[in-house]
Amino acid sequence: MKNNFSEQGNLLLKHIDTADAICVGAAAGMSVAAGYDCAYHNDKYFEKYLGEFGRKYGFEGSFNGYYYRYQTSEERWAFLAASIYMNMNLPDGMVYQNLFELLEGKNYFIVTTNQDTLFSRRFPENKVSTIQGDFRYLQCVRPCHDELFESKELIEEMYANIRDCRIPTELIPHCTECGRELEPWVRGFTFLEGKKYREEYEKWNRFLLENKGKKILFLELGVGRMTPMFIREPFWNMTYSWSQAFYIAINPKDALLPKELKEKGITIKEDIADVLEYAVRRKRELEGKVGAES
Ligand SMILES: [Zn+2]
Repeated sequence: MKNNFSEQGNLLLKHIDTADAICVGAAAGMSVAAGYDCAYHNDKYFEKYLGEFGRKYGFEGSFNGYYYRYQTSEERWAFLAASIYMNMNLPDGMVYQNLFELLEGKNYFIVTTNQDTLFSRRFPENKVSTIQGDFRYLQCVRPCHDELFESKELIEEMYANIRDCRIPTELIPHCTECGRELEPWVRGFTFLEGKKYREEYEKWNRFLLENKGKKILFLELGVGRMTPMFIREPFWNMTYSWSQAFYIAINPKDALLPKELKEKGITIKEDIADVLEYAVRRKRELEGKVGAES
């Protein structure tokens, strides 16, 4: 099989295969590669779960809905519940499955700024750090204390009771300590950087410490230019200072390679889903799982 990125795809596979450790950093582009555009456009998922809100408020994508100034908490929580419910029920799709197959049996770790819970669906909890929060949890809005609340049951109940873009008042979730409302545990003005947040960073740091001197691959997937400080810059810095590190960024638009890393990295400016699919197919061929090319 030949296409315009077969050379880069093969290089990706070679680096994955020969690395002692693989640190994946993934951001919004990964969701786009999975086929989800619902954060910024009214795609079929938006229509299914949030269509009524889109028509009522004129939202273009779910992102709009988070920043809208609702008149009442009943209306705001109806939107939040529908949006979080949508996230929790998106199928994780081929791109995640392919990444899983590429990493299976390897010494790897994933750090993500995505809050959509898709990585946690397929990958074990001890191999994923969500460093910008995660819709599976709610926190006190203040926050008055350091506990998170699991959101699943609360969200499902709210979602099931939405009528005319509102939930019943008694379903608005409140803090068990101070009685204020809860908030989704995602990056925002009140984001709780407490125990769980520190644990997410500790998991990642432990992996880095254990593998610092080894041949480590930093694989960046779908990181944009807006917030480079969370994944991209740490990846660049570690690749630069660790002698055996290598950096690969896959992103159709935003992949960048600083000139200092010219010898220690590549960018693949292609669709992440296509590249991973190619790599998996090639891997299977090499392992003789399907009709191998001669
Ligand atoms: Zn509280």
